[in-house]
Amino acid sequence: MHAEVIAVGTEMLLGEITDTNSQVISEGLADLGINVYYHSLVGDNEARMTEVVKLAASRSDLVVISGGLGPTADDLTKQVVARYLKRDLVVDKAAMQKITAFFKKRKREMTPNNKIQAMYVQGALSLPNEVGLAVGNYYQDPNGADFLLLPGPPHEMQSMFEKTAKPLLAKQYQGQQVLNSRLLRFFGIGESNLVTKLADLIDEQANPTIAPYAKENEVTLRLTAAGHSDAEDARLLDELEEKITDRVGEYLYGYGENNSLPAVVVNKLRQRKLTLSASESLTGGSFQAAVTAIPGASEIFPGGFVTYAAEQKEKLLGIPADLIEKNGVVSRKTAIAMAENTRNLLQTDFTVSFTGAAGPDPLEGKPAGTVWIGLAGKNMVTQAKLYHFQYDRQRVRNSAVMTGFGMLNK
Ligand code: ATP
Ligand code: MG
Repeated sequence: MHAEVIAVGTEMLLGEITDTNSQVISEGLADLGINVYYHSLVGDNEARMTEVVKLAASRSDLVVISGGLGPTADDLTKQVVARYLKRDLVVDKAAMQKITAFFKKRKREMTPNNKIQAMYVQGALSLPNEVGLAVGNYYQDPNGADFLLLPGPPHEMQSMFEKTAKPLLAKQYQGQQVLNSRLLRFFGIGESNLVTKLADLIDEQANPTIAPYAKENEVTLRLTAAGHSDAEDARLLDELEEKITDRVGEYLYGYGENNSLPAVVVNKLRQRKLTLSASESLTGGSFQAAVTAIPGASEIFPGGFVTYAAEQKEKLLGIPADLIEKNGVVSRKTAIAMAENTRNLLQTDFTVSFTGAAGPDPLEGKPAGTVWIGLAGKNMVTQAKLYHFQYDRQRVRNSAVMTGFGMLNK
């Protein structure tokens, strides 16, 4: 069982946008244990789309296509696939009503080409689009490749893929392969270091398998067990996880796709009914933006400061001018004063502070990437740690923000 993922759109061939859909689709297929052998990218051109579809169907069991389901003349995916399968396009009445109502409500005239959005390949399942108008298609062919057609706009594609298509695929292919996987998320350790520490486990892996993956500021391990009962898989995964945490457990912060480090930290504080504030210089509010991006943040986060210029550190936070002059903005003392003064002003259980040189130029003679992060808390001695982050300005700022969360998670 293996799949091919096709992205349709001339904008991507021109380099105007990147194909993010195929990445999301591949990740989802991997979750289901469906191997992806090929990715293809083709423009909105009927002849070349037909060639790509033919080739994909000849070498894959499942062909997943995103894009080209819309109403305009360059949206041709359904037509091309229908012609390849020698099938007609038929109207999904419910979807048609939705489209008609959509235009009526907006008092806009519905042109005939909009009808195509409600059409599907005869014999396929028409997949509802909860956030747009064009229906998706899932066509199962006992004699050839199956087709899954998804809309191009990423939020439409993702919604349809998660809610409707993945459950269908899981049902369809479950009989062939039962998989149980677990995602472990690590912060504060690099991929190569993590892999070195687990080298023998990774080498001898067969079932469960261990797949390391490095993202910006974190490393994940996906453990996958297959072919046993769910209970047996779970036991094998527990056993392997224990071996892993024996060695690198101090860096493990969470599990699963939806548990980012900020989410884990915010939720822990919520559970413990503790509050948090922040005082930011080089990160310009990004830490606070990350906190408030988590639902429920209002329970733990009353606010904070962004004091970019030294005068504002004095004015808003009451840090003595001579402390900053003597020690520098990028210093342990300034980081500590920022954290402590903010905590006093806002009366939170914890405050994190950030001061440093984001780059590209050095600041006060300190190279770009030099960052002090302070942490003040009700029942603890205020600490400040020095970091030397790498690469460009944005990555230095992102790393600082995530490291702030990492310090809170300890
Ligand atoms: P619409 O009804 O909006 O026309 P559609 O299903 O016909 O949707 P396209 O016309 O191919 O899809 O793409 C619509 C938009 O969705 C593109 O302009 C692009 O911004 C985005 N898009 C399409 N395919 C991808 C992709 N593979 N990765 C990221 N974005 C994409
Ligand atoms: Mg379109």
